[in-house]
Amino acid sequence: MRVAIAGAGLGGLCLAQGLVRAGVDVQVYERDAGLAARRQGYRLHMDARAGLSLQKCLPPRLFRLFLATTGRPGTKVTVLSAQLRVLHETPGGPDRDPDDPATLSTSADRGTLREILAAGLADRIRYGRELAGHDQDAGGVTLRFADGSAERADVLVGADGVGSVVRRALLPEARLVDTGARVIYGKTLLDGAARRLVPAAMHNGFTAVTGGHLGLATGLVEFRRSPSDAAAALAPGVRLSPAADYLMWGLSAQHDRLPAADSELAGADAATLHATACRAIRTWHPDLRALLAGAAVDETFFIRVRSSRRVPAWPPSRVTLLGDAIHAMSPARGSGANTALMDAANLCAALTGGTDLVPAIGGYEQSMREYGFAAVDASRQAEAETARRGSSPWLWLVNHWPRPRRTAGR
Ligand SMILES: Cc1cc2nc3c(=O)[nH]c(=O)nc-3n(C[C@H](O)[C@H](O)[C@H](O)COP(=O)(O)OP(=O)(O)OC[C@H]3O[C@@H](n4cnc5c(N)ncnc54)[C@H](O)[C@@H]3O)c2cc1C
Repeated sequence: MRVAIAGAGLGGLCLAQGLVRAGVDVQVYERDAGLAARRQGYRLHMDARAGLSLQKCLPPRLFRLFLATTGRPGTKVTVLSAQLRVLHETPGGPDRDPDDPATLSTSADRGTLREILAAGLADRIRYGRELAGHDQDAGGVTLRFADGSAERADVLVGADGVGSVVRRALLPEARLVDTGARVIYGKTLLDGAARRLVPAAMHNGFTAVTGGHLGLATGLVEFRRSPSDAAAALAPGVRLSPAADYLMWGLSAQHDRLPAADSELAGADAATLHATACRAIRTWHPDLRALLAGAAVDETFFIRVRSSRRVPAWPPSRVTLLGDAIHAMSPARGSGANTALMDAANLCAALTGGTDLVPAIGGYEQSMREYGFAAVDASRQAEAETARRGSSPWLWLVNHWPRPRRTAGR
């Protein structure tokens, strides 16, 4: 069986690892020129869905490397005022074990995670190959690329993210909705001076600062072990880029509440976005202002938060979807990556389970629609409730932050 995966994002790479482990012939086609070609966010909240899925798909040494390079887990979630007064605290579960995938509740650096997911797949990933469309027939699928070339496969998996071309062809009725929320994301490296500015509460875990109609979500990534050292010790031969501790921040608001028009921000360069974020918090506590002012300016980027609509069941075929390609959701509740990794593990099990291909894909799609769109609904509710209250978009998220999950079967 030859499986073609469109997209070397989190879900596509995780699936590729699982299939290679099971001895399946896999080829991943990625539009970008390389893993680091585009800014896509830095810190990801990872829970048991990610932990257990990665454990199933990655070779053991890469899974150990993933755990070793996660962030120091937080102990609580805090809401602060713009002047750094503690407004609310939610303690984390007492039974979190950063080395137990079933209780995982931690942060991961997206770049490091993608490098781990791509390790050992060099000859399986083709960069600069943008899928433009596909045709299905009784014997398989023909993939058509933007450069005019074509390839054949038995199965095509659309892991090509929120703007998926595979979804547009397979499910033209599927819709994306603009939630109205906007986020300017940035990253401040924790050199000595910046680390001293980090408010005490932020050392305890995810923190939301609320200031009128603006919210600032922050999360430290303090690697439990430096990625390059961990790779040398746990997976010799795997090279991870050096990465230093940092503070991820995201300034969020409804589209009409940011100090610049939506259309301006969408086309703005990193320096303009950084200046906009600094201007928006100019009356906030001096330490917060200094932390944003000291950010790595080039790393600033802007997103419009989009979400998908539930899609009714469709007839299964040799073409299927995973992750954001089918159930894109707001970052509220930190579920998108976790769900994409869960899809990857479930689809891998379906494709390698020894049953007929198309019914196996149908079984995967049936359960994926349930938990995938349940996660979309939960994140959309978070956005909607926040907008109704006119409060900081991150407040609801904080109150509904996912608790560490224990899954059945353990
Ligand atoms: C700023 C931000 C913060 C987030 N934080 C969290 C969090 O804390 N926790 C969490 O669980 N989720 C989080 N998410 C959501 C999470 O990032 C996504 O849900 C996740 O990346 C989805 O994985 P994926 O593999 O489906 O898609 P992606 O990771 O988006 O990968 C899609 C890949 O497909 C490629 N591609 C696109 N089109 C084509 C084409 N035509 N041909 C070939 N390749 C193509 C893209 O270049 C990309 O590499 C966050 C998202 C953002 C934007």
